[in-house]
Amino acid sequence: MTERERSLILRLARERRLSEAEYAELIANRDPEAAQLLAELASAARRAVFGEAVYTRGLIELSSICRNNCLYCGIRRDNRLAERYRLTAEEILSCADEGYGLGFRTFVLQGGEDMYFTDEVLCGIVKALKARHPDCAVTLSMGERSRESYRALYDAGADRYLLRHETADSAHYARLHPAEMSFENRMRCLADLRDTGYQVGCGFMVGSPYQTPEILARDLAFIEGFRPAMCGIGPFIPHRNTPFRSEPAGTLELTLFLLSVLRLILPEALLPATTALGTIHPSGRELGILAGANVVMPNLSPVGVRKKYELYDNKICTGEESAQCRGCLEQRMAAIGCHLAVDRGDAPNWTRR
Ligand code: SF4
Repeated sequence: MTERERSLILRLARERRLSEAEYAELIANRDPEAAQLLAELASAARRAVFGEAVYTRGLIELSSICRNNCLYCGIRRDNRLAERYRLTAEEILSCADEGYGLGFRTFVLQGGEDMYFTDEVLCGIVKALKARHPDCAVTLSMGERSRESYRALYDAGADRYLLRHETADSAHYARLHPAEMSFENRMRCLADLRDTGYQVGCGFMVGSPYQTPEILARDLAFIEGFRPAMCGIGPFIPHRNTPFRSEPAGTLELTLFLLSVLRLILPEALLPATTALGTIHPSGRELGILAGANVVMPNLSPVGVRKKYELYDNKICTGEESAQCRGCLEQRMAAIGCHLAVDRGDAPNWTRR
């Protein structure tokens, strides 16, 4: 690490920001020594806000049906080999009931853009979930919808919404998505979610095809300005039935580096150590927490459908029961001196409007 890199890192820790050119420089010139300094500063920043608590969110994967055709995604519309399923409202509520018994107080309802889930259907599910578990937060991750739809879902009781921006560079966005999808609409959705009052999560894949340090710097600058409550980043992992099947996966090293940078930009954010990180390395999630992340998202979906929600190849945690998933993560976190928090874990300073 040069003196220049050290001074950039120390300034980032102090001021919580760098210029876009400086982010690109930091990424392009990174080395293990810089990564270690970043991880130490990021861990200290995480502990200063959250102590040793790691928040846990129960993930329920509602549907593997999607109208979209994102080039990197295993459940894209054109993957004729993907096995499709859709959970019923009863199945979703029963996953949440089981999760509640296991101590989860946040449920993340995630799925492809499956048009079965109209506002009426999804609002009904959110309301029913909130009625059964009023002390729980509901996070939705159901893709691009209209401003009115986001409003209706918020009014039904949804608290948070995850919508990865995928890339803050519009030309890069166009290389990852078919022409029918637009960067402008993705940004419109994020702005609408923010205006509606949600705790909003954005994020991107690390090592996606055509990504450069300059594009990553743009992502970091976007996140610095948008100030999301949550930010999900994980390595790109190719899926065998997509156009990107032969592309190399993103690395553990760069993902951890960026998690640390993100923690320094957003000390109060909820940053997941993702399943994708656990897929590319057996201790990926623990290393993610040690690099600055503070959320894990065990799977509560019925075991029978988990393999069908295959966004990328070799996804882990598809064979275990929910209780096993939670127990496994509890032990993994204890091994690095952390504990799973049982409260909702809202973003600091957020109140429902
Ligand atoms: S990334 Fe999301 S929107 Fe795109 S194809 Fe996959 S499930 Fe559908």
